[in-house]
Amino acid sequence: MRLHELTIHGALELLRRRDISATELTQALLDRIVDVDNDIKAYLTLTPETALQEARKADELRAAGTDGALLGIPLAIKDNICLAGVPTTCGSRILESFVPPYDATVVTQLRHAGAVFLGKTNLDEFAMGSSTENSAFFTTHNPWDLTRVPGGSSGGSAAALIADEALGAFGSDTGGSVRQPASLCSIAGMKPTYGRVSRYGLVAFASSLDQIGPLGKDVTDCALLLNVIARYDPRDSTSLDAPVPDYTTALRPEIKGLRIGVPREYFAAGIQPGVEKAVRNAIQVLADLGADIAETSLPHTEYALPVYYLLATAEASANLARYDGIKYGYSAPDAPDIWEAYRRTRQHGFGAEVKRRIMLGTYALSAGYYDAYYLKAQKVRTLIKQDFDQAFQQFDVLVGPTSPTVAFRIGEKVDDPLQMYLSDVFTLSQPLAGICALSLPCGFVSSPVCPVFSPGQGVGTAGTGRKVRGMANGLPVGLQISGPALGEEIVLRVAYAYEQATEWHTRKPKIKEEY
Ligand code: GLN
Repeated sequence: MRLHELTIHGALELLRRRDISATELTQALLDRIVDVDNDIKAYLTLTPETALQEARKADELRAAGTDGALLGIPLAIKDNICLAGVPTTCGSRILESFVPPYDATVVTQLRHAGAVFLGKTNLDEFAMGSSTENSAFFTTHNPWDLTRVPGGSSGGSAAALIADEALGAFGSDTGGSVRQPASLCSIAGMKPTYGRVSRYGLVAFASSLDQIGPLGKDVTDCALLLNVIARYDPRDSTSLDAPVPDYTTALRPEIKGLRIGVPREYFAAGIQPGVEKAVRNAIQVLADLGADIAETSLPHTEYALPVYYLLATAEASANLARYDGIKYGYSAPDAPDIWEAYRRTRQHGFGAEVKRRIMLGTYALSAGYYDAYYLKAQKVRTLIKQDFDQAFQQFDVLVGPTSPTVAFRIGEKVDDPLQMYLSDVFTLSQPLAGICALSLPCGFVSSPVCPVFSPGQGVGTAGTGRKVRGMANGLPVGLQISGPALGEEIVLRVAYAYEQATEWHTRKPKIKEEY
């Protein structure tokens, strides 16, 4: 196995045995990025010099007898999480020149654990989207088929990981942005319980929903990453001061007698037959492992989408008011007065989807409409949460699909925001309820061979002068496992048991085919 193909736990074993050095490992990842990222476009910013410095420091520490939970492990960070001294653009023109002077708390925790930072990954502008097509800079390509989206908004992190351009990655999940790209790229990705992980230094989108989450090549890696970032943080007033278990102790392939609910609303019209089949097969695997499976209902599921898009846009409109051209990033030049400066800055700095959401949110919050929209949505949010409360009295976890479809084509949904929003139908309820959920690979749907050489989309010569094209790899399907608040351990346990019984997580895309 080549170094960039390692999992975190695999790499840690080799590093601890001194079979490899962190410097070698980091260099292998940087080489891999040079090799494939022209095609994938997962990274917005690379930090090779500091990555190698961090790796050398990790080697020195190890030589001095120190260990760390992630000592020498190269990671990718979504570009809405602040890393001191490195541009944090949020995929937006308005923050193009913003260089934070501080680290997000998760980054501080990762540094203490010895991690190496390879760079910042692409996302939909301000994490608003499901495909990375809303990035102001470029769209990331799905490594399984370069003509398709990697999901979003953490599509850069998910694509980087499955293309072996990082050993682990972080994203943020407001309505599915870790789980949906994890599903579309065939990796494991978790949205922890609201408050479990600090958001200090995460650029705010919708504050009652946002949560940073880990993406791993397998469930063990997710647990290792979560171990480092799940902490109380006095700098985040929504942070939970709850005991933090060692999540790796949850990794036992033993789920006999666990009660697993299958919400019937998660198999509604609109789900692709191949997705349904893969998920039903996965549920059978869980049954074969001895879990007690039963159908259940989350009756308010159909309201999750309207509720989410009211609340998330309302909160976004308030959070994004701070981008006025005075405090951060882009500022329109030559404005005759302050009002015009605000207007021009926001007009040029924000993309279409962000503007749409600011307008929707401002409308929902405005006098005369507040009760009808915002307040009503808050009430229905409580009903959605109560659905889960009731379900978790009967079941340890709930399972279903993460996304109703496999990865869709780049451009397919950009002109139809509602279709785009529908990609999240199964991932919106959990953040609304504040609970945790994880997506992991559970199968593939075969895809037709795609003649995808398309210079306009950046799928081209990969910097080698040789033409490359997407391959008929089949497109991945994700299984979503939802657990109660602070139920990360049980979710990880079920995920691990499933993973041990299957081989989906070992499949890798063939990114390049030379011809
Ligand atoms: N795709 C959803 C949206 O556009 C979720 C985004 C997210 O989780 N950040 O809002």
